Amino acid sequence: MASSNSEIRDVMVLGGGLVGMTLAIGLARAGASVHVVDRDDPAAQTAEGFDGRASAISTASWNLFTHLGLAPLLEPKGCPIAAIAVNDGLKPGRIDFRPEPHEGSPNDSLGRMFANRELRLALFEIAAGEPNIAWHPASEVVARERGSFGVSATIADGRTLRARLMVGAEGRQSPTREEAGLNVARWEYRHRAIVAGLAHSRPHDNVAWEIFYPSGPFALLPMLDDEQGRHRSALVWTVAEDSAAAVLRMSDAAFLAEARERMGGVLGEVELASPRSSFPLGFHHTARIVAERLALVGDAAHGIHPIAGQGLNLGLRDAAALIECVSDGMRLGLDPGDGQVLARYERWRASDGLMVAMATDGLTRLFGIPGRTASLVRRLGMAGVQRFAPLKRWFMDEARGVSGKLPRLLEPV
Ligand SMILES: Cc1cc2nc3c(=O)[nH]c(=O)nc-3n(C[C@H](O)[C@H](O)[C@H](O)COP(=O)(O)OP(=O)(O)OC[C@H]3O[C@@H](n4cnc5c(N)ncnc54)[C@H](O)[C@@H]3O)c2cc1C
Repeated sequence: MASSNSEIRDVMVLGGGLVGMTLAIGLARAGASVHVVDRDDPAAQTAEGFDGRASAISTASWNLFTHLGLAPLLEPKGCPIAAIAVNDGLKPGRIDFRPEPHEGSPNDSLGRMFANRELRLALFEIAAGEPNIAWHPASEVVARERGSFGVSATIADGRTLRARLMVGAEGRQSPTREEAGLNVARWEYRHRAIVAGLAHSRPHDNVAWEIFYPSGPFALLPMLDDEQGRHRSALVWTVAEDSAAAVLRMSDAAFLAEARERMGGVLGEVELASPRSSFPLGFHHTARIVAERLALVGDAAHGIHPIAGQGLNLGLRDAAALIECVSDGMRLGLDPGDGQVLARYERWRASDGLMVAMATDGLTRLFGIPGRTASLVRRLGMAGVQRFAPLKRWFMDEARGVSGKLPRLLEPV
């Protein structure tokens, strides 16, 4: 929907990525009028090869998609994760996270795998048909202003968009966060994730594999079979930054030989089903996620290692919490950018964001320590978790995203 230059909307979301667009749809469905501005073009963002990643969507995030009407579009595209197998290299002593049939989620799975492209296609289709959303793709923001009465963003083509609340959702390098002076703690892992699609002879049986090597984790994530009936998985292989270029330059045959060596034959014969791409890995965390008429969501607020597949889920929990804070506030007659609305959002998200960030960082470091003693400690820890049901359930609840006080949109429909 187009909007006039002078119109003041309730919320302006800067960055219409996976988190920003989900937030915009949720706010719009709750009755708020929303601007969404993204510097990229949706046709480019959904082209094959733009983002070769796949995401594990937790049960709670799936509940959010269901509430927002995305589930019918996404349901046929997702591959349920029935179990997560965690291994310290190829040594014996793996732990399996496999929920009992009565453990609650709709199909008892630990989430579903989706190609990021499919997530974007569904979000963009719903957003395009949502009357409360004014979507401004391929728009570069050249100036942002926030004041006691409202916020505005000037686009490179001269338009000025106005709203009551500004949301920074531009991912890791969020210029809105930087401009607001919200301090970020950050460190680089000096690792890079190499991502590729694999086709393989053995079925994956809906098992996600996390195989930890001192050089970095190696994950095999189950995807649906392709149209030719080939079994497929998504590979996320973490390598040291200084060897990443060499791994990316390898011939397909050499790359597959290296990958096979780390897979212990769990998927049988493997071949490449998509080109390789790579992502630098770092950690960042912002203690303050609100300022005057401003809130941060998703990777703009926190960036974590993809070891446990939680970054997007964490961002979707931000989105669900912010939708609830803004819509509850508006129902009480409060301005969406009111300090009380934002303070509630920040209080709600602070502990979850920090806990997931620290747990993920701890896991990354624990599994990255070389040597036999460290390996023994890891395997003893893993054996303990394997045998101790409450601890295992806690880990599984975290994977499903259903621990802690949940926003209403993350509850089952
Ligand atoms: C290899 C890898 C695997 C991962 N796997 C998983 C997983 O399995 N599960 C999971 O939960 N998470 C996973 N993650 C994390 C997840 O991908 C991110 O947390 C998630 O994409 C963050 O979404 P976002 O919308 O906050 O940011 P982004 O996806 O970065 O989106 C930002 C948006 O803002 C736009 N933008 C940027 N700058 C500007 C600007 N100046 N002006 C306007 N618009 C702008 C961009 O075009 C984009 O659309 C993985 C990450 C990596 C690297």
